Formats: sequence, C-alpha cells, structure tokens
Amino acid sequence: MSASEYKLKGINVPQKKPAFLVKKNEQPFDINSTVECLERAACIHKQVRGEMYPLLRPGVRLLDLANFVEKRTIELSNEKNSLNKGIGFPIGLSINNCAAHYHPHANDATELKLTDIVKVDFGVEVGGWIIDSAFTVYFDDRHEKLANAVREATELGITNAAIDADIDEWSRSIQEVMESYEVHPIRNLGGHNILKGLIHGEYYLPSFPGQPIIHKRFTEGIYAIETFGSTGTDMAVPSGETTIYRTNPYKNPLLKLDSSRKFMSKLQQSFKTLPFSTRFIDFQPNPKTQLNILSSNKNIIDYPPLSVIEGNTAQYEHTIFLGENGQKIVFSRGDDY
Ligand code: MN
Ligand code: MN
Repeated sequence: MSASEYKLKGINVPQKKPAFLVKKNEQPFDINSTVECLERAACIHKQVRGEMYPLLRPGVRLLDLANFVEKRTIELSNEKNSLNKGIGFPIGLSINNCAAHYHPHANDATELKLTDIVKVDFGVEVGGWIIDSAFTVYFDDRHEKLANAVREATELGITNAAIDADIDEWSRSIQEVMESYEVHPIRNLGGHNILKGLIHGEYYLPSFPGQPIIHKRFTEGIYAIETFGSTGTDMAVPSGETTIYRTNPYKNPLLKLDSSRKFMSKLQQSFKTLPFSTRFIDFQPNPKTQLNILSSNKNIIDYPPLSVIEGNTAQYEHTIFLGENGQKIVFSRGDDY
C-alpha cells in the first residue's frame, strides 16, 4: 500500500460531511444549563472532527491538523459564550508510543506516516463547560487489535458508569477487557470528572484497579470516560518538550518579577482556567523563559507529552452526564465513534 492509497481506520468514517450543525447553532439555548452548553459544544466537536477526517492521511503535518481544528472551533463558536473562543484545550496529536498531550510546537514539521497510530484528543467549550473527546486513527491493520481493545474498554466504561458504582470495580472491568485482547491498560492514565471551567475535577477513573483515588464512587456529574491501552510498557512517562499548560486555580504565590506578574495576568486574562498551548501566546515573544518561571512557582501546571517506552498506544474518550434515576447522556457520541 502506498501513501496515496490509504484507508482511515479506528473510526467509522462517515460517508458524507456532517451538515447538522449550522441549523442547530441558530437555535437559542440556555447558557445557564450545563446540559445545553455541553450539547452545543458536542455539536461543534462532531462537526469539526467530521471535517477533519479527510485531512487525516499519510503525509499531513500535525501543525496543519491543529491549525484546522482551532480555526473551525473558533468559527463555529460564539465568542460571547466562551472563555477562550470555544477552544476547550489544545488538541493532542499523540503518535505511536506517545499516549497523550503531544501538541505541535510553532515550527513542528512532524508528519503522519502510513504506519502511525495517532490519538486525536481535542476540547470544545461553551458556557464554561468542556466537551473532552478523543479517538484513535491508523492506516495499517497491525494496529487493529490495540484500537479495538481500547474502543471496547471505553464503551464498557460508559456502560458501567452509574451513580454509586464503585470506581475500583469499574477500573477492574476496563483492565479485563484490555487484557482479553492481550493489550495492557496504561496504569497511570484515565478518565476524570469535569467542572465548570475546569477540565480535571478531583475524580480520577484509572484504567487499572488498585490505584489510590480520592473519590471511590461515581456521583451525579459530568465525566470524561477515557481509557488508554498499550502493546508495550504500561506506564506513561513525561517525554519531550511541554507545549500545553494551564493556570493553576489553587495556587497563586506572589511573583518576584514585574515581568512575570504581567505575563501571568495576561495568561489569566486570555485563557482563564483553560489549558493553552505555547502556540496561543501571541503577547510575549519567546515565552519559554517566562513559562518556566511560572511553572517552577506552580502558578501554571505543565502537561508534558506522556509516552510508554515500548509499543504503541490507543485512546477513546467521551464526555457524559450521570444524573438521577439512571439518566445518562453521552454528549460526544456520533456515528463515527
Ligand atoms: Mn481528552
Ligand atoms: Mn480527558
């Protein structure tokens, strides 16, 4: 198979372009309703990823993918209803052994290869509420078992998520599905709850049982149900240059330098509590030094790329609502995944 004749795998590729959004976006909605905000954000997510699928081909630059997703998210969002123009967080485009948080830097020349498996993870925000949803794509059948294992594990995770369900048991069921495919769940990555304006709440949903977790059972709320699998090692470790950061809502120590204080307040003004990428910083030339100062003071949190040492990785993720009386909404679900 040559690069010009490829088949996109890992999702059900839609036969036609999604055309449902424009009408829906004209309808009024209640910005104070969590569910309505997430429905609107999910609509944009589905539209953007649908338009992205034809671009996912061997030879495409990650930077072009990131630019496209950001541009379309901004175009389809209403700036008045958004914290950062609708961008919930910078897109993750993590290839092969890299499982999460690879986001191209400004001059990144990385291209997708025919043999690659890539985790596409991006967020859309409306009214402070973020849709966090991810899928895995590849062109080479060798990745099929890995992708199927993780897709099935995430599906089971959505089925088993319920108010009062034990999270450790939930994690064990994820582990069992992956291991039935001879795939290792990545022990230190998992799902989480989502709060207004905050991508990660205090709930952690590991893909592996026996982890130290603060909250033991699901309660009513918004969750990002995601699982990660690996054909190699089962721990993801920081690897490579950080390009994604977030202001730290819990810690704001005084900064000694005037320039750092100014930079910090500009970050808060521009991105509020949402994650941002070095590519989004247009108000500071060479921001790396300033970012390092803020990071070492814990004013901002780093999200470095996370990779397993050997093997390939896959991820699927949906944002859901768990309500009383068994109510469950899987906002980001589409015909594609
Ligand atoms: Mn995600
Ligand atoms: Mn997530």
